[in-house]
Amino acid sequence: MSLIVQKYGGSSVADADRIRNVASRIARGREAGNDMVVVVSAMGDTTDELISLAHQLVERPDEREMDVLLSTGEIVSSTLLAMTLKSMGHNAVSLSGLQAGIHTDTQYSKARITAIEPQRILQELNKGNAVIVAGFQGLNSQMDTTTLGRGGSDTTAVALAIGLAAHVCEIYTDVEGVYSADPRIVPEAVKIDRIGYEEMLELATYGASVMAPRAVELGQAHGMPIMVASSNSDNAGTLICKEGSMELRNKVSGIAHDTNVAKIMVIGVPDKPGIAREIFEPLARANISVDTIVQNAGLDNVTDITFTVARTDVVKALSIVEPVGRGIGATRVTSDETLSKVSIVGTGMQNTPGYAARMFRALADEGINIHLITTSEIRITCIILEDRVKDAVRALHKAFEVEFRQAE
Ligand code: ASP
Ligand code: MG
Repeated sequence: MSLIVQKYGGSSVADADRIRNVASRIARGREAGNDMVVVVSAMGDTTDELISLAHQLVERPDEREMDVLLSTGEIVSSTLLAMTLKSMGHNAVSLSGLQAGIHTDTQYSKARITAIEPQRILQELNKGNAVIVAGFQGLNSQMDTTTLGRGGSDTTAVALAIGLAAHVCEIYTDVEGVYSADPRIVPEAVKIDRIGYEEMLELATYGASVMAPRAVELGQAHGMPIMVASSNSDNAGTLICKEGSMELRNKVSGIAHDTNVAKIMVIGVPDKPGIAREIFEPLARANISVDTIVQNAGLDNVTDITFTVARTDVVKALSIVEPVGRGIGATRVTSDETLSKVSIVGTGMQNTPGYAARMFRALADEGINIHLITTSEIRITCIILEDRVKDAVRALHKAFEVEFRQAE
């Protein structure tokens, strides 16, 4: 008998039929003699709907109340799933994040897990219950409910798998696994059987929405393998784990794209020490994550600083950067919300020259203009116009297809 930790995403519990499907999958696991701990997301678009409801009433909803409100989505799905299992003759109990012993810091809406105290879960398993845990939520030191950021049920699942010393964390979703590119855009995209944490983290951070980046990071930190598969089939999915082979691994594993991008330019700032700090410190304090920072070479003691933020953060970011810009004597601050990111990711690129050139050629051949470029050791990202992003993904998939085939 082993302990299985599973997570079902919002689309997998979107309605009564889908919940019944999940219940019968859990029942099968129990019938095979396993202890089942199952994390669920809120049904379908519940979280978005709750957010928009709050915004119909108040412009800036109170943070504490907002986290309690959003946590209810997962309470609904966990209770419905537990009662369905019971009606099928299986002992089951739903637990909120609080009851499941998920402790977090006090950062509302983006709380980080500080500890898992799994006693209650273990007690319930001992009693013979399937334990259904409401994802995306925890409890802070003030005994208040917090939420873990969008997509946070993945984080709950990986944290519980670690806390309960499971062998693997199974994440079930509406696709068959991680693909070499979004299959809705590239029909020839191939499913990746196995991928390293590092690559998966870059893909997830740069737009592959199949897994929350924080959950991948957590899995990596604790060496917890994560299996991503479909809740509609029994096909093997993608195993996210420690990179296996050394030199034989494929070079480009996947292409990610992200349309939630806004560019902010601070033009004509004095080229002297401390300026970047003045711009980025207040953004950090406001918990806005910034990437793709580019500073031009200074000319006549002035320079420009350009960076990107999530489009969902741009209003807040501008409200911070505009006054700072005036304070430091910048000529002006502008923003652009018509851009997207497209990235190629692969550990094998590290020491092999020519990948950047091939990427730029593929984009140039499509007549796609590159606005900004950033790289990590294993990723190259180009910022391009959003209306060309699908063309870019297709062109890049084609340009690197040889390598996807090799990986199979
Ligand atoms: N329901 C939350 C969200 O939509 C958490 C999750 O789905 O993982 O972001
Ligand atoms: Mg969701």
